[in-house]
Amino acid sequence: MKPFSTIKEIKNLLKNGEITEKEVINFYLDRIKKHDNKFDSFLEVFDKESIFKNITSDGPLSGIPGLLKDNICQKNRIVSCGSKFLENYVAPYDATITKKLKSAGAPILGRANMDEFAMGSSGEYSGFKEIKNPWDTTRVPGGSSAGPAAAVAAGLVPWSLGSETGGSVRQPAAFCGVVGMYPTYGRSSRYGLVALTSSTDQIAPITRTVYDNAYMASIIFGHDPKDATSIHTPQIDFTKDLDGKLPKNIKIGVLKEAIETEGLDPQIKKSLEQNIETLRKMGATISYINLPNLKNGISVYFVINRAEAASNLKRFDGTLFGMRDKDSENLLDMYVNTRHDKLGKEVKRRILLGNYVLSSGNKDAYYKRANRIRAMIRAEFNQAFKEVDLIIGPTTSTLPFKLGEGVADPLALYLSDYFTVGNCITGLPAVALPSGFSKENLPMSFQFMGPRLSEGLIYKVAHAYEQETQHFLKTPTL
Ligand code: GLN
Repeated sequence: MKPFSTIKEIKNLLKNGEITEKEVINFYLDRIKKHDNKFDSFLEVFDKESIFKNITSDGPLSGIPGLLKDNICQKNRIVSCGSKFLENYVAPYDATITKKLKSAGAPILGRANMDEFAMGSSGEYSGFKEIKNPWDTTRVPGGSSAGPAAAVAAGLVPWSLGSETGGSVRQPAAFCGVVGMYPTYGRSSRYGLVALTSSTDQIAPITRTVYDNAYMASIIFGHDPKDATSIHTPQIDFTKDLDGKLPKNIKIGVLKEAIETEGLDPQIKKSLEQNIETLRKMGATISYINLPNLKNGISVYFVINRAEAASNLKRFDGTLFGMRDKDSENLLDMYVNTRHDKLGKEVKRRILLGNYVLSSGNKDAYYKRANRIRAMIRAEFNQAFKEVDLIIGPTTSTLPFKLGEGVADPLALYLSDYFTVGNCITGLPAVALPSGFSKENLPMSFQFMGPRLSEGLIYKVAHAYEQETQHFLKTPTL
């Protein structure tokens, strides 16, 4: 078996009897043992016996190992959310998506490291150990799904699941040179995903190729009666139209604001322009579109994310889940001491801000206003999608930055979500994929965003681009 194999390749080996499920699992467990000390993408690698006990051979993911971000519940396993607060907390049930993976025969190898409670864009806010980028271990892998992205990039697993609220799958996928997506809000069940921002949170796959991503999406997405925000979509095979060709007459809109943004790294800008040319040569009709309010996306996200995070994290007060301060003399002190000692800096910052924007007198000025601008951004997207089928833009404005730079400047870190929050707050799907390499040999990425429920089309176009350019063939030297 060769390192950096795709799901598709492993499936073929298994089908042709060239390798057994057990051998595939052993291969990856050995790689994790050998290499993960350089990246710290795992919080826990499950013991071999428990993985082997559940081996199957007839499911779509039988013998194809993967890794789950540690805010997705796996029954009888710890689910820490990358936080000391939940260091020993054991999930009492499987998330719906975990259940689907298990029925598909997936061997789950462990729990992935992440920014605490999915707050962050660099992997440096993990309550346990910071995660490093496999392309350059002095740089961040992005976040908050830092472990899931780094593990796939390093070839420690062929797939992983992350969660995204405002960029947490696509941004680390971009920094690590792999494929990440955000589905139409409600396509992916949130049952058993520890909530950060309930109105935008979604679980989504990270893979080496677009085909593999579509393959995973076909298994995990679909309606879930246990999630009140789940939409009535059937289980769809997103791989069936992936023939390497662009659909006839496809119209792609270039996000003008993105190209003109001052903060866009010149190498990313140049590569985006070249890739737009590539798409034109492949047959796409290219035009330019404006989303004038997209620049307000960060501010809107800032308020909504903090408000919902503060509400969702109220449950972590020492009474029900995780840690409890044992030395406090009364209940109030117990709440205060537990939260003070066991939650990280960024989490506390967001809870404080969230409670502030929700407090009486401020709610209308911040929370309601943010939701009004959110509606304006949605209207602009809807208008744009009357003119074009998909929108192309950068995934991130910078290359992966050096470890330490993000934590030193939280505001700059918040801005790294500039291009990924817009579609999240409006619930629209997007796929981020490798688009080339910088002169420092760091991965670059762009994304296709589409109207509601256009995942099939996005995957088809992304797959055609990927087949044309084959950036995924390049791998990091470990
Ligand atoms: N980086 C963003 C943040 O810090 C996104 C988080 C996420 O998508 N979970 O909030």
